[in-house]
Amino acid sequence: MEIGEKIYGFEVKEKKYVREVEGNIIQMEHLSTGAQVIVIDNQDVKKSFLVGFRTIPKDSTGVFHILEHSVLNGSRRYPDKSMFVNLMKHSMAEFVNAITYPDHTVYPFCTENDKDFMNLMDVYLNAVFCPNVLTDKEIFEQEGWHFQCEDGKNPEISGVVYNEMKGVFSSLDSILEDEISKAMFPETAYRFVSGGFPDTIPALSYEEFLEYYRTFYNASNCCIVLYGRMNTEQILEYIDKVYLGKMKRSEPAKPVMLQKPVKGIRNKLYDKEKFGNQGVFASCTYSLGDFDNRERMNAVYILMQAIMGEDEAPMKKGLIQSLGIPEIQYFIMDGIRQPYFAIKIKNTDKETAGRLKMAITEQADRLCREGIGEEVLVSAINRLEFWMREKGGSWPEGIEYVLDIAGGWTQGTGPCEMIEFEETYVKMRTLVKEGYFEALLKKIFLENAHEAEVFLEPFENAEEKGQEEETEDLPGLSADDLLHKKEEPLTRVEEESGITYLKQELPSKGVVYQSYYFDISELEPEKVPYAKLFSELLGILPTRMHSLEELVIEKNMWLGNVRTYLEAYTNTDDIRHVRLKFVMDISCLEQNLLRAVKLGEELLYNTILEHPEVILKRIRQSRMELERGFVISGNSYASGRAAAHYMTEGAARERYSGILYYQS
Ligand SMILES: [Zn+2]
Repeated sequence: MEIGEKIYGFEVKEKKYVREVEGNIIQMEHLSTGAQVIVIDNQDVKKSFLVGFRTIPKDSTGVFHILEHSVLNGSRRYPDKSMFVNLMKHSMAEFVNAITYPDHTVYPFCTENDKDFMNLMDVYLNAVFCPNVLTDKEIFEQEGWHFQCEDGKNPEISGVVYNEMKGVFSSLDSILEDEISKAMFPETAYRFVSGGFPDTIPALSYEEFLEYYRTFYNASNCCIVLYGRMNTEQILEYIDKVYLGKMKRSEPAKPVMLQKPVKGIRNKLYDKEKFGNQGVFASCTYSLGDFDNRERMNAVYILMQAIMGEDEAPMKKGLIQSLGIPEIQYFIMDGIRQPYFAIKIKNTDKETAGRLKMAITEQADRLCREGIGEEVLVSAINRLEFWMREKGGSWPEGIEYVLDIAGGWTQGTGPCEMIEFEETYVKMRTLVKEGYFEALLKKIFLENAHEAEVFLEPFENAEEKGQEEETEDLPGLSADDLLHKKEEPLTRVEEESGITYLKQELPSKGVVYQSYYFDISELEPEKVPYAKLFSELLGILPTRMHSLEELVIEKNMWLGNVRTYLEAYTNTDDIRHVRLKFVMDISCLEQNLLRAVKLGEELLYNTILEHPEVILKRIRQSRMELERGFVISGNSYASGRAAAHYMTEGAARERYSGILYYQS
């Protein structure tokens, strides 16, 4: 596929090789409808798909959230509601979901199986383009809202989204966030609750709901993202033939308009009876400019990690001390047209809450004058670069990419800008020395024309009480032929000075993962709990080379993650002998490998095992964690205890993680 080429009703608009995804990013437009298709053409076997729409709310009825739920309740080709759920349940999909954001709605999935991919894609496209809710009002009532009458009681409002949002708004954190949106964006669509505000949801009629569907869920307002190793042409042909090719062109929705700078302030009272007395909440928020300036946003992430990322970070530490509070939280609200930075404190008193803004200003002013410190900034850059390369945690990489790209498309930002970061990071490293980050800090905290202060305060009033949380159910699907072989990575075995190395070469975007195994099978059983304790102490005690504060900086600078623990193994043909290993996992950026290994070595061999107060604290914490474990998952401790009687492996585990460990 080359630029200008027309293929199955699509025209290739842009094509670029992007190193960060090790493949081409191809942007296409569907000629008759204007639908956008973005392809990340690489060799990842975990294929991902997303279909999304710009969905800009005009009120807080939660219409797009109800739409998101409703379209997954049966479609023309897959009419049976329970069949849809059944299909999904037996799929090989690693990830299926639907998410309503403040200004767009997406339906992503990820699977390794080609047939499964085609099946799921059809189910998703059928759901969004031909949902049964268009003719079946009951689905709207069930997912949105309806009256429920029980014998002898007044009718009550119920509905999946209605109940879910009642759950969301039973938390003061959600209320605070909602107030922040109103304060920061008093004139744009972001002042509304896209998920729906419980009291407003019942204002939505079925007819209006259908009108919203027609305006926003159409081909011209749609973006489809494909990621991974797949037969792209076959997929494009299918999408055009079965869906887009049969649709008409209409007007796509425009991105949310820009809010002109405001100094917002909101004071909200919350009912002490309903929420319990949680003290005063306060937040200060600062606009970060336009979403489209991704280079600046990258710099913001680095800056905030440097000054707020750790308890020892200069701004966080300064704020905690000057306000005399135990904790302070922050977040970056990205993914909207005008991202912002928020600092919040909870469970405090009115006087402290009132001092927050001033304290932030003082700290920002101090850091501008004294400088943030080169080491702190470089360590933050390294840390973030590691996160960018490792790309998230629990979700498949492809899902992170398709979500990022859909988020960018919503704001009118191109896919390459959303994904490329290597050049920016090279530049950031040079900017450290030029005072760039201090200047950015000044702009955000001291010279910002667009900011807000929000307070939540308790008041007495006894009215309604008690709210329930509702969890969201996710759909699932199965394919007929799920025969699928997982590719096992090739392992090279090497020996050097009595040490065995197992090496696997896998695409890992510049991140190196290492595990060191030390055999401790000869240890007397009574001493196993001590080995476990030792593994928990590494990294929280100083070493002969570094104090604890220095160690935190060193770890951020050179390591991605480090973890030490015990693991028991038995050979399948000799189950009577257990091999107990002390394990150290290290991950780091490739260029930091030597320093990372050295630091791991330092932790292992040079940790100062004195400081009885730290050790005692760790033991108490362990005990608490175990006790919590007994309550939450008592069954697994019981089965572990049972396993200890008939498996040597189980017996060993019992000594370092089970009830026996607790007793010792
Ligand atoms: Zn929901």
